[in-house]
Amino acid sequence: EESQGASRSEELCRRALNRTPGGVHSNVRLAGSREFIRSARGAWLYSVDGRDYVDYLLGQGPNFLGHAPGQVVEAVSDACRNGVIFGGQHELEVRAAELVCEAVGWADMIRFSMTGTEAVQAAFRLARAATGRTKVIRFEGHYHGWLDNVLLANRDGRWGPASNGQLAAHLDDFVLLPWNDLDEVAAALARDGEEIAAVVMEPIMINAGVIEPKPGFLQGVRRLCDDYGIVLIFDEVISGFRLGLDGAAGRYGVTPDLATYGKAIAGGFPVAALVGGEELMDLFGTGEVNHSGTFNSSVMATAAVVASVSSLIDDPPYERVAQHGKELMNGLQDIGAGYGLPLRVVGLPQAFHVSFGDAEVTDYRTLQQLDLARYEDLAGTLIDHGLWVAGRGVWYVSAAHGQKELDAALTRFD
Ligand code: PLP
Repeated sequence: EESQGASRSEELCRRALNRTPGGVHSNVRLAGSREFIRSARGAWLYSVDGRDYVDYLLGQGPNFLGHAPGQVVEAVSDACRNGVIFGGQHELEVRAAELVCEAVGWADMIRFSMTGTEAVQAAFRLARAATGRTKVIRFEGHYHGWLDNVLLANRDGRWGPASNGQLAAHLDDFVLLPWNDLDEVAAALARDGEEIAAVVMEPIMINAGVIEPKPGFLQGVRRLCDDYGIVLIFDEVISGFRLGLDGAAGRYGVTPDLATYGKAIAGGFPVAALVGGEELMDLFGTGEVNHSGTFNSSVMATAAVVASVSSLIDDPPYERVAQHGKELMNGLQDIGAGYGLPLRVVGLPQAFHVSFGDAEVTDYRTLQQLDLARYEDLAGTLIDHGLWVAGRGVWYVSAAHGQKELDAALTRFD
């Protein structure tokens, strides 16, 4: 037999690559993870049948400090004991606001919500109120939440980030453009500029594969937004506080008008935030725009933000995370080469994407042409080897991943 003499992992790998999508290791098993995992701590998951896993999915990213980070659990427990919902301005909310704005650097006002989706919706509302226009430019492959107005169906009909596939029926207010193509943005504005309220983007595209903005792209979009009086929104729900404290604005030296944060700001608890300058954010204060919910700024939520963000400010883990990610990317690339797999590791060390194929991945369209379904099958194999990863997904490296986890990740595959 072809696989005779091969190691168990090689056999598994071959088998996985021949498996059709939707096999036992794809979404069904991943979706069943709630029954499957018994407990989690740091970068580790423990299953009901006694296996342990190094977790590179981290609940799709929010557990940047690892599972059950002690200081956050303590802070939230204290908040629970002191009263979970307050309904007014609590000192923890003020402290959380100060910390996030201090980290972000350029923003002086903040509005908390429970999810990133709501924060993005709040940004749209502000932009529309401020400009008196309705349309929003967004980019292929960028994900902005789970509500109908931002959700798009992928080529294969699954819900997910925007793609050049089928649009939901009621998306007239959105103009969908290719990522990283400034000429397309300029042309869309020349056509519709007077109707555009906002341009929204993941300033580093992460959700559908990690692709950084091309040099000059963010600066160019910023300039165009200024020319046309358009609100620039950086959706940093996934990139924020993961790559550094000051987000894409700091990394690329481009300041948006509004930015959204979530996931990593609250150590795994459900909190998100919209930040911006006074001019726009005051539309909330004057009551011109309302965007509030019962559970926004609950004492529990803001306690999680205070504990998480102060820990990230006091002991920034970013260099460690980047180093770990680099070694993990190289190790995975070697594993792929060892098996003769055309496996590519693409992106930033803190969040990267594994895919198959030889094409240089420079934009979302080339990424879409890669055979991501094969990676979904490989994900099943990796799970067999004790690595918890997403089918088709991005790998997230966290502050909780250390040498022990790296060694386990790279040796378990042998
Ligand atoms: N925006 C981006 C860039 C995201 O990555 C996500 C979630 O993955 C969202 C918005 C939606 O956030 P939530 O799932 O908290 O509603």
